[in-house]
Amino acid sequence: PVDRSPEIQEARLKLPILAEEQVIMEAINENPVVVLCGETGSGKTTQVPQFLYEAGYASSNGIIGITEPRRVAAVSMSQRVAKEMNLPHRVVSYQIRYEGNVTEETKIKFMTDGVLLKEIQKDFLLWKYKAVIIDEAHERSVYTDILIGLLSRIVPLRGKKGQPMKLIIMSATLRVEDFTENKRLFSVTPPVIQVDARQFSVTVHFNKRTPLNEYNGECFRKVCKIHRMLPSGGILVFLTGQAEVNSLCRRLRKAFPFRKNKMAGDEDKDDTVEKTRRFKKSRQKKTTTLPKINLDNYSVMPADEGDEDRDAEMDDDEDAVGSDIDLDLGDDGSEGGEEPYSSLPLYVLPLYSLLAPEKQAKVFRPPPPGTRFCIVATNVAETSLTIPGVKYVVDCGKVKKRFYDKVTGVSSFKVTWTSQASANQRAGRAGRTEPGHCYRLYSSAVFSDFEKFSPPEITRRPVEDLILQMKALNIEKVVNFPFPSPPPMDVLVAAEELLIALGALQEPPKTGRLKDLQKAKLSCPISSLGTTMASFPVAPRYAKMLALSKQHACLPYVITIVSAMTVRELFEEFERPAVNEEEQEELKGKKARLIQMRRLWAGQGSFQKLGDLMVMLGAVGSCEYAGCTPKFCQANGLRYKAMVEIRRLRGQLTTAVNSICPDASLFVDPKMKPPTETQVTYLRQIVLAGLGDHLARRIQAEELLDETWKNAYKTPLLDDPVFIHPSSVLFKELPEFVVYQEIVETTKMYMKGVLAVNSEWIP
Ligand code: ADP
Ligand code: MG
Repeated sequence: PVDRSPEIQEARLKLPILAEEQVIMEAINENPVVVLCGETGSGKTTQVPQFLYEAGYASSNGIIGITEPRRVAAVSMSQRVAKEMNLPHRVVSYQIRYEGNVTEETKIKFMTDGVLLKEIQKDFLLWKYKAVIIDEAHERSVYTDILIGLLSRIVPLRGKKGQPMKLIIMSATLRVEDFTENKRLFSVTPPVIQVDARQFSVTVHFNKRTPLNEYNGECFRKVCKIHRMLPSGGILVFLTGQAEVNSLCRRLRKAFPFRKNKMAGDEDKDDTVEKTRRFKKSRQKKTTTLPKINLDNYSVMPADEGDEDRDAEMDDDEDAVGSDIDLDLGDDGSEGGEEPYSSLPLYVLPLYSLLAPEKQAKVFRPPPPGTRFCIVATNVAETSLTIPGVKYVVDCGKVKKRFYDKVTGVSSFKVTWTSQASANQRAGRAGRTEPGHCYRLYSSAVFSDFEKFSPPEITRRPVEDLILQMKALNIEKVVNFPFPSPPPMDVLVAAEELLIALGALQEPPKTGRLKDLQKAKLSCPISSLGTTMASFPVAPRYAKMLALSKQHACLPYVITIVSAMTVRELFEEFERPAVNEEEQEELKGKKARLIQMRRLWAGQGSFQKLGDLMVMLGAVGSCEYAGCTPKFCQANGLRYKAMVEIRRLRGQLTTAVNSICPDASLFVDPKMKPPTETQVTYLRQIVLAGLGDHLARRIQAEELLDETWKNAYKTPLLDDPVFIHPSSVLFKELPEFVVYQEIVETTKMYMKGVLAVNSEWIP
């Protein structure tokens, strides 16, 4: 029996899914696989695990698992469910790649989809679980797709063994035919249950004109107008990245100052009392119509209900290059002459994946009385988290995505138009508790050119990591795997070729005919090196480095380098616009300091040849030596969160290495000495072995064809010139042969994470 507080009980009763509990549980009891569709906010994530718990799916010999594509959701939903059920975190727990609070007593476990995939490697039939929920399946994240493919086999096997497991696939949209109508996946079509959500109408207002790349300023002006002129109700703004979110928050706070001390104490008032009060208030307001004012150039169109399918926002990519920041900070939004409808303070909160959890939690709390809230979010607010009380949505229409060249792996971040489906999801956030409005900062003509849905992630990126994991599960013929949407053939071939080159797969027999060879390549079994590599939770190229570095006491260094390369973005970005001159000076000083530190960490002479990897070693080493404190990170331009993740990953990798070769007896040494000169040479060779296909050679003077190739490098895979990124310590050195971690395309193709290699090492 679950002992819920009366307030929680009351809030639950308002959720549409509660009325369907019996229907849902009957379907689950009678079918091995059930698909559950329900509009965002209908209560799927928070309630279905509780239904299963109360129906006995977490009894003595089994637990309930829920996967989420985003870390944010795994953490915050486990906390919410624990609170609703009045159970401690050791019973309702979460596990994400770097952390978790799972115990022996855990009964409900929220995790990222990647975590469950790793568990399948250790325990193919997932004996621990009596029920597995795949949440947010409409997002079509790579791991979710693979998990559904694997679970389609695991579920019947468990049934045959007399210990059945239930699979529930949950989606915020009705677009589930890739799961239900794919006979290779489920030979018996699973039942689809649809939960009707109480969705109020949302009036969509399109801009007459679409501002060219100037949506940040447009967003600001729109929020100001809504706040000044429209009746109470929360505002939710969709932007594309962390930098944009923070910049808009700063501008809005400046335009509508909110003094916390005046409201002291109110902020932490009982959640539910406040919420009820606000709910009642908004109910009363329901009949008031919007005043007829000219919100400048809008045309009014009815909201179009639609499905949505979008790319996962990759947690780690949040603060990467390419964000489009508005430098116009002087504008306080006042345009003079207009009578303000409301001069309430605006309670502005940011929301994005990398935000600290306690700050994320703030969006669920009622705003201080006498204020209007405005949440400025990335697309985490699209379906993963439902914010109560939103009446106005401002949608820039854009999304930041990582684009890959599927074969070369060259990636770039681009801000592009989102899909129609995802724009409609965003609009829907305004109609949860009463009719709302969505302001689209683009024209209806532009909207009709949006693609209908974003394609599933698995069809858009290189897949060597997945193929290695699958081979480790003895799935040799990857082409026959029941993918909900299979990756393109050239992507599968590229992945297998890379894995063969790394020695992770057994070489296919040399046959005469090219066609046979192609076929053989797509069904190579894993090698023993590959098995070792698959046990490391990092990309295959990095796993290869780990597998090679037993000798010369290089392991601790390789573990550190690989951790740093996996976590990425170690250094603070100082390229953002400053609010005032004082901040500008500060940013300048910090940037100078970071450049100085990078030089110091890079060392001199032959040490410097390890390039940016030496900088990573130096940065992690000195940070750990100083106790890895936020203070040290701040003073030296390091991202604290990245440093903490590197520390955790070093721990994990050290454990993984020790379990494979116990005589290594490694431990994470916070006082790790810098490598010797000989070790640095070995390290460069080890990195070359893992990144062998990431080799580049400088164009020599006599080869120079035209000015675009000045200081450029040539790579085997690309026709275009590539350059060493200006942030690299080898930017001025320009060694003849280099190996790079990745190529990122911004204004040019830039190599990041660069080191120098000797020509005689190149095979
Ligand atoms: P779905 O998964 O169907 O999108 P959820 O189960 O996430 O729906 O949300 C159901 C309700 O619970 C929503 O109204 C949401 O605002 C509320 N909710 C979710 N998390 C929290 C939280 N941490 N604090 C308060 N309310 C929450
Ligand atoms: Mg949900």
